[in-house]
Amino acid sequence: VIAAIEDSEDDLVSRPPVITIMGHVDHGKTSLLDAIRDAKVVSGEAGGITQHIGAYQVTTDEGVTLSFLDTPGHAAFTSMRSRGAQVTDIVVLVVAADDSVMPQTVEAINHAKAAGVPMIVAINKIDRPAADPNKVRAELLQHEVIVEQMSGEVQDVEVSAITGQGLDELLEAIALQAEILELNANPKRSAQGAVIEAQLDVGRGPVATVLVQNGTLRQGDIFVVGEQFGKVRALINDKGDRVKEAGPSVPVEVLGLNGTPEAGDVLNVVETEAQAREIAEYREQVSKDKRAAAGAA
Ligand code: GDP
Repeated sequence: VIAAIEDSEDDLVSRPPVITIMGHVDHGKTSLLDAIRDAKVVSGEAGGITQHIGAYQVTTDEGVTLSFLDTPGHAAFTSMRSRGAQVTDIVVLVVAADDSVMPQTVEAINHAKAAGVPMIVAINKIDRPAADPNKVRAELLQHEVIVEQMSGEVQDVEVSAITGQGLDELLEAIALQAEILELNANPKRSAQGAVIEAQLDVGRGPVATVLVQNGTLRQGDIFVVGEQFGKVRALINDKGDRVKEAGPSVPVEVLGLNGTPEAGDVLNVVETEAQAREIAEYREQVSKDKRAAAGAA
């Protein structure tokens, strides 16, 4: 329904990578996301504390900005992909150094490979007395993940989400991988993004965290997102500040929706409210028909 617009070379600028942390339960995905955020959000920065909006940005000591999806696990990754939103550029695969490659580790490897997304291995809990990173590397080899220490091409970093050891190296590894990927976007075009999470807020109405993938999303923009539509009433960043606009790879909360979209829905800015309504209603009708057909079968 919405035509793809070709971006001219001249308009393309580099954009931050979007990173998803995956791995087996209890291997430290949440701890790592928290440790990175805590280490890199300057306490003097407005608010000082990041809001949980489903994604956050940090800047490395070298000045490279990285966008992390703040929802660990595989459900988010797969539900996004199944709805057509491929938002992840780099997967950080967490494996606990005192444990083994486990079923969800293998699942994460398979997801990343199927999506064609490069991986970086974070061998976590390196502070633990029983940590045996070489055992982890050998096990990964059996799943065709050949890390640099094993003369392969997958970067591997020993980290501890508890002591903070290796966190800077991990961020450097991500920045290097991003450089290789040459990620570009055109901030001049109208915005396209993906819903990371959405909910109906008692005070604010439907709120969606959108990761802008291309273009720039601005206050006042009219958009369609999945089966919903709206006009941007306010944009709030991961520090809880109101912003006028959000460019490529920036996560923002969007207010001004007519209903609550679903994670993985794609947002597109359109010209008129009539257009937005028409597209949303058309999509709603299509999914109603599908449900009816499924019910009749
Ligand atoms: P998730 O299920 O993958 O998100 O794992 P969590 O982040 O919830 O961590 C599981 C447990 O391992 C928690 O009790 C954490 O405190 C602990 N943990 C996580 N990272 C480390 C680490 O680097 N070192 C140590 N010693 N414990 C850790």
